[in-house]
Amino acid sequence: MKLFDAHCHLQDKRVIDKASELISAALAVGVTNFAVNGTSEKDWDLVKGMGEMYPSVVPCFGLHPWFIADRSPHWLKTLRKFFETTPTAAVGEIGLDKSPLAAGIDYSDQLVVFRPQLELAKELNKPVAVHCIDAFDDLLEIMRSVGPFPAGVILHSFNGSAEVVPKLAELGAYFSLSGWFTYIDEKIAKNTLKSIPSDRFLLETDSPDGLPKADESSSDPKPTLNEPANILAVLDYVANLSNMKKEELAELTYGNTVRLFSYPGSKLLADP
Ligand SMILES: [Zn+2]
Repeated sequence: MKLFDAHCHLQDKRVIDKASELISAALAVGVTNFAVNGTSEKDWDLVKGMGEMYPSVVPCFGLHPWFIADRSPHWLKTLRKFFETTPTAAVGEIGLDKSPLAAGIDYSDQLVVFRPQLELAKELNKPVAVHCIDAFDDLLEIMRSVGPFPAGVILHSFNGSAEVVPKLAELGAYFSLSGWFTYIDEKIAKNTLKSIPSDRFLLETDSPDGLPKADESSSDPKPTLNEPANILAVLDYVANLSNMKKEELAELTYGNTVRLFSYPGSKLLADP
């Protein structure tokens, strides 16, 4: 069984020192690739370095909405440079967030930062990872005006409603489920799963965040940080809710992710 972690942050300062162990542990359970998403100008160099060091890492560069306040005046120019020097890269993480998690972050400024990055992904014809919480109306409107996106838009840790899925899918969206999905009400989660077209389904960990809900009956100490090997727990949970065999869901999502990340310049095309 092969899996592809479609979205994680191994450059995060909480885990970067352990990245090589975490990658080995995940490779050992069948995770062949990791899309490592940068979140601000400060970590793009780290992500680029990881992409050079590990054949399994797909580097992604983007400015996350939570970190826009610290951006430099020339951030977009710098971002473009990273894509010029790293043809293997995809775009991400970018996004829009109206939830309490983004309290204090100017929403109109988020829009100012989001749109040119989405346009850049479209121009470069690369997939782009999008964080969207409580802002699906705006996301849809902007995607309609900039898109469509034949190279794909990854709605990472997707938590939108079943209703919005077909509208986003029509524009090129993929729906990526992580450990966060295990906290959603089961009935709502089942509806969401039913609405996702099978060729747009992805799995991810969002590690070191997004730890899947723990088995309450277990007495093992609960870890605090998530890691890519835990994609197996996401696979279990989603397979169970969608009445699919684990192997079947793994094959489906693996095929989708490999296809999505096989853009011109991608490592996936260079690998034998
Ligand atoms: Zn993320």
